[in-house]
Amino acid sequence: MSGVDVAVVGSVNLDLTVPVGRVPRPGETVLGADARRGPGGKGANQAVACARLGLRTAMIGCVGEDADGGMLAERLRAEGVDVRHLVPVPAPTGLAMIILEEGDGESTIVVSPGANGRLDAGRVRAAEGTITGARAVLAQLEIPIPAVAEAVRLATGTVVLNPAPARPLPRELLSRVDVLVPNRHELAVLCQAPTPESPDEVADLARSLLPGGPRAVVVTLGADGAMVVTADGVARVPAVPVRAVDATAAGDSFCAGLVAGLLAGEPLAEAAARGCRAAAVTVSRPGAIDALPTAADLAAPPA
Ligand code: ATP
Repeated sequence: MSGVDVAVVGSVNLDLTVPVGRVPRPGETVLGADARRGPGGKGANQAVACARLGLRTAMIGCVGEDADGGMLAERLRAEGVDVRHLVPVPAPTGLAMIILEEGDGESTIVVSPGANGRLDAGRVRAAEGTITGARAVLAQLEIPIPAVAEAVRLATGTVVLNPAPARPLPRELLSRVDVLVPNRHELAVLCQAPTPESPDEVADLARSLLPGGPRAVVVTLGADGAMVVTADGVARVPAVPVRAVDATAAGDSFCAGLVAGLLAGEPLAEAAARGCRAAAVTVSRPGAIDALPTAADLAAPPA
């Protein structure tokens, strides 16, 4: 059997969202509106985003041996994601408890990684054939670092790492990354430096990662688009102007668009522009997975 386009190595969570008028103080109880349960976690978001863009996608991760784990695996499968290496383990399925304040749309979130924390190097190695056969490997940092390190070690295709949530990474791991995709805050944590403000500061900090590190750094800049930094120079990629409704999963959508572009043979700046188009659709719609575009959405003019 031929390999997949992209193997996504990462987290799968149940997002449990309760809209409230205001966030309770410690020790206080407030009544909220109807709860919503749905798939989440950066790994699952990016896997669904890739599949919707038409990439043959496999998810490598862990869920619990519980009803939530079964529901999430089924949802990913329904989205066309190969879940053979989404392994049920004896731990609760990862859970994000989201208190969504109505009005300003600010969220207060507690994440219990649960099963995601059980994805170790051995479980990643069990998916070796899928990883080595994939044209690209896409990972994030909501799983243990040794699992990420093993995935990038096994990869033979293009390695894209979205270092979120940010933490300093071993040079050895970074040296195996083709394209690192941080936002400004994640870039600062990786470099153990203050958050860069001006475009020159962003470029300087991204450039400082290149020697002995990734081949390229693509920094996402919210409504300012993205910046592509390689040894050859710096390119700015503008955002697609849209009416922003909800930025949740914008970064995940960007990563999927970027991978789709790279696998279509586009130069990096063009692939980043495809990432911006995918993310623009996502910010113009409410929700996370529900807001991820299809390839047809990218062909249409933005809303
Ligand atoms: P998140 O954590 O919400 O997934 P992030 O902080 O990782 O996002 P951002 O840099 O905020 O990532 O956004 C990712 C991409 O989304 C940007 O590079 C840009 O292309 C797009 N984007 C974000 N905000 C807007 C906006 N207001 N208008 C158009 N595009 C946007």
